Amino acid sequence: MDIKFAHFSIKKSHRQLLLVGVTSSLILILWLTGHWSRQIALENLQQQNQHQLRLFVANLQGQLEKYEFLPELLATNTLLINFLQHPNDVKSITALNRYLETINKVANASDTYLMNAEGWTIAASNWLSERPFIGRNFAYRPYFQEAMKGKLGRYFALGSTSNKRGYYFAYPVRDKQEILGAVVMKIELLGFEESWSAFKEEFVVTDPDGVIFISTNDEWRYKSLYPLNKSVIDRIHSSRRYGNARIGTLSVVNKDRLSEQAQVVNMGDPRKSDHLMLVQDMPEAGWQVHTFASLGVVNSQVLKSLLFAAILYIAIVLLVLYVYQRGRRIKERERFERRAKQVLERRVKERTADLTAANIRLLREIEEHRRTDETLRQTQDELIQAAKMAALGQMSSGINHELNQPLAAIRSYADNARALLARDRQDEASWNLEQIGELTERMAKISSQLKVFSRKTSGQIVSVSLQAVIENALKIVGPQLKDTETELHRKLPQEELYVMSDMVQLEQVLVNLITNAVHAVELQAERWIQIAVSTKQGKAIIEILDNGPGIDPENLGRIFDPFFTTKSEERGLGLGLSISYRIVEMMHGTLTAGNREQGGAVFTLQIDLADLN
Ligand code: ADP
Repeated sequence: MDIKFAHFSIKKSHRQLLLVGVTSSLILILWLTGHWSRQIALENLQQQNQHQLRLFVANLQGQLEKYEFLPELLATNTLLINFLQHPNDVKSITALNRYLETINKVANASDTYLMNAEGWTIAASNWLSERPFIGRNFAYRPYFQEAMKGKLGRYFALGSTSNKRGYYFAYPVRDKQEILGAVVMKIELLGFEESWSAFKEEFVVTDPDGVIFISTNDEWRYKSLYPLNKSVIDRIHSSRRYGNARIGTLSVVNKDRLSEQAQVVNMGDPRKSDHLMLVQDMPEAGWQVHTFASLGVVNSQVLKSLLFAAILYIAIVLLVLYVYQRGRRIKERERFERRAKQVLERRVKERTADLTAANIRLLREIEEHRRTDETLRQTQDELIQAAKMAALGQMSSGINHELNQPLAAIRSYADNARALLARDRQDEASWNLEQIGELTERMAKISSQLKVFSRKTSGQIVSVSLQAVIENALKIVGPQLKDTETELHRKLPQEELYVMSDMVQLEQVLVNLITNAVHAVELQAERWIQIAVSTKQGKAIIEILDNGPGIDPENLGRIFDPFFTTKSEERGLGLGLSISYRIVEMMHGTLTAGNREQGGAVFTLQIDLADLN
């Protein structure tokens, strides 16, 4: 199974969609932020400037109002009226000039002077200066004309003599209803500009034509806010309001109107940042006061907000992505663990099933083995019995031979005895009868040997005399040895040895081994078999040697196999050694086969010696 932790991955199409979504929402957010922050910054700026503007206007108005009533007050002075009525009174002119000078000084005005109905200046505060106004005609000045109409004349202009900007208040001097002339007070507004230039905003005052005559920015002075008609410019020039100054224009471009008094404008140079322009009218003077504040503050405020919004947005997006990714990882891990658990459970189940099957198979095999073992044991018992029968069969011919001889002898001894008794030769007859007795004794001996086979094995391993077992076995094979004229060499120890075995079965093993040896030596010119017994480390060692051809090395590994035989069918079944091997094994002994160096085979049997204590 192939389980991997899925890395943070979104499908490509999803990713594109996400990218488009994130980008467009970022753009939207930035746009909204830009819009709102601009709005707010503009509002703040507007409020600030509005406040400044109000202060500025109040200040300006305060300055003007301070002088506004003075000409009217002066006009009531009889000194002025009298002089206008009698202009040639030299005595009173000096007094008048002095008076005007004092008033001018006290009021801190620029100039104060009296004009007659024709516009000639007839008395002035600067009567002692280098260029006194006296004798000059200002009939062309609008303030004079206004005053002559009986109104308070107000006018801003560059002084034609002093070349200084000034504001003029003119009031008619009356005698009863007749207007005799006008008294004029000129004030300067110089320090005013200076004190306001410290602010970041620019303060500007325009005349009714829109020409700037007071400005905290020196470059803007005598320029119109908006382009003017040539006729208007000509009129301004001819009025000599601003002396010889050329009237230029700022060419202000209105961009965004925020309210009646506020709008965003460009000061004629699109490369430079826009300004917030606030306007307030000063109706008495016929002026408009403007403030111009650079939108640089607003722009930097907007920029900061945009930056903040962008960072915040990106941070939120990243946070969301992180949370999403974490969620996915956790889910992925849970899925992995779940799958791993499932796999594990499946494997355990499979293994358990395998083990159960194996167990069942094993139990079956055990059962089979048990049955096979039983069958084998049964077969083995049968084989032992068969082998016994085979040995019996072999023996029977010998026994037959052994019994027939004495029987024939008994017959002839009996015949002899009968004949001798008939001739009354008693002694001789009795000798013959004695012979018969001896022969029957011998026959009984032979038959006793057969008892061995009739004895059923006890199957019990007990302590038995090894010499007795060997003698019994030799009795059985005795006839065979005799028939084949095979010599038997015994090499037995003097003392009696006891071994742990089943007597009958051990006899059978020895009979088998000796029979095989007899067979082996059959074709030798001189035939001998040796039985040698010794002891070693609590075991009896019984060797059956012969001078036969020995065992073919090729067959050495197979001779203990059941039914392995090199003999003809009548002579061998190939069971003798395999049965012997099993029997010895059951007695906890060993049976091995080999060849002697001098030729011939050697079978070695090792059995535990009985512990006689
Ligand atoms: P069988 O005697 O019926 O052949 P065994 O199991 O007793 O069966 O013997 C198996 C074979 O072992 C024999 O056929 C023979 O080839 C070999 N063998 C046994 N004893 C000897 C011996 N003393 N010398 C040579 N060969 C032997």
